Amino acid sequence: MEKLKQQFGVRATDSLFECGFYSRDMAPVPSLLVDPLFNTRPDIVVRPVDAVETAGILKTAFADNIPITPRAGASTVYFNSVPVKGGIVIDLNLIAGIEDIDEAAMTVTVRAGTTWLELEKYLNPLGFALKSFPSSAPAASIGGWFSMMGYGIGSIKYGSLLSQVQSIEVILPTGECRWLTNDTKPPLAWFAASEGTLGIITRLTLEIRRLSSMKHFLLAFTDVGEMRRALESIINAPVVPYNLHFADKRYALAMQSLGFSPSDTASSCTLGIDYEGSRAELDIVQNMIIRLFGDDRTIRLFPEEEARREWTGKFNALRLKRGGPSVLGGEIWLPVKTLPGYLADIKKKADCYGLDLISYGHVVTRERAAVMTLFYTNETRIGSYILDLAMVKKIHDVGYRHGGWPYGVGLWNTPYLGRIFTLPYLNELRLRKQMLDGRGIMNPGKLYRAPFFLNPVSFAVGMGTLAAVRRITGRSGRR
Ligand SMILES: Cc1cc2nc3c(=O)[nH]c(=O)nc-3n(C[C@H](O)[C@H](O)[C@H](O)COP(=O)(O)OP(=O)(O)OC[C@H]3O[C@@H](n4cnc5c(N)ncnc54)[C@H](O)[C@@H]3O)c2cc1C
Repeated sequence: MEKLKQQFGVRATDSLFECGFYSRDMAPVPSLLVDPLFNTRPDIVVRPVDAVETAGILKTAFADNIPITPRAGASTVYFNSVPVKGGIVIDLNLIAGIEDIDEAAMTVTVRAGTTWLELEKYLNPLGFALKSFPSSAPAASIGGWFSMMGYGIGSIKYGSLLSQVQSIEVILPTGECRWLTNDTKPPLAWFAASEGTLGIITRLTLEIRRLSSMKHFLLAFTDVGEMRRALESIINAPVVPYNLHFADKRYALAMQSLGFSPSDTASSCTLGIDYEGSRAELDIVQNMIIRLFGDDRTIRLFPEEEARREWTGKFNALRLKRGGPSVLGGEIWLPVKTLPGYLADIKKKADCYGLDLISYGHVVTRERAAVMTLFYTNETRIGSYILDLAMVKKIHDVGYRHGGWPYGVGLWNTPYLGRIFTLPYLNELRLRKQMLDGRGIMNPGKLYRAPFFLNPVSFAVGMGTLAAVRRITGRSGRR
């Protein structure tokens, strides 16, 4: 620690106050629940500015077997970037900036701590744009999204982030610096969704597209079945949308009560459809949407101005939290075809447990949607909050029954590892970990196996008991 403090000066801190900020992420988890089980306060936080400094920190950690937790925007919620065994947190936000744009190859090389919004703002005046980005783009970093699942806005048209990245610069746990492509050993794909457990990504070269015009549509439906039929027609149409986002009635009502949505969407589920392309393509799309939905009296087609407003608010879904004080929930990687069944079962759970369950999400491939189901709670009321935690499992169980599983692992989703990965694939991931990080210093305690307290059997029994108590007592964290 002394060595790092001397080398990094004000860019290293072991102050209890400052390190405290690194022991949480976006999820509201009371320390009373965490502190007895995990050491979430880093011993030291270091902020390197480039690959050379990052490699130096990793060499030190490797020599002394010190746990390393990479952290960028920390816009995740499963303690992905929160240490559970103390050690060194590497704050990657200073490894930022755009290095090179190759107009002939249509690629950009960017440092990993740059946010998606920064990159988009750099590209747009030059006539280029990102192929896809997360709806957390103002905070989420390029390296952070690559280290997670990498699906979001634009994915339905352009594919996962992995399919757009051509090469990455990585610092391996030993401190060795490597440029990886699809043809190297290891290939860059090993690092996608590896959640900071194999090394630290410092630079990426990714594909971009030409900036084009956009057209936006907003549809409202009285029932989910109609929404699914509309989704199918749009997904199977010859022109692929850039973004497809949906919300249930509860979402529209909550947004309306907070003053964010038009009042006439409040009793409907909504579907926002955004297209990008040439003027000619957008004219085709306009005719297609009118042909598909213009004459259907049960479907409301909003004026484009409203639809554009939804697009402009694409980074603000969590405004919902203002109805809080806090929100809890689960994000499910769900087959599109089971969406109506999922939403119907979620409604049943809401009625059964007296919960206000709010769902929304994005269709990110032709087959899959990332669906978020949330409810209000209050983390300062520990007893009731603990009972509310059992409801998160109920949401995941509904998702599982409809062919879905949690989107992302971190610490809190390790009880669901058996749902997320097949056993052979999980073994393959463990093998990669063993090969690249045999000492287990990179982000330990995450992704590969559940810690003792979260093992699937005791977790299921514990959560089942809490859910029963919650149902009998009718207590919820929000009250
Ligand atoms: C409002 C909101 C909207 C969101 N929308 C989306 C969405 O559309 N799609 C989606 O997939 N997710 C979404 N998320 C989740 C999250 O924002 C993304 O996963 C995001 O890309 C994480 O980036 P980050 O920089 O915040 O990473 P962090 O949270 O800091 O880190 C995430 C993981 O990656 C590791 N890591 C970070 N940087 C590096 C690096 N350079 N090298 C190695 N490991 C690293 C960390 O150790 C951690 O395990 C959303 C979250 C919020 C709050």
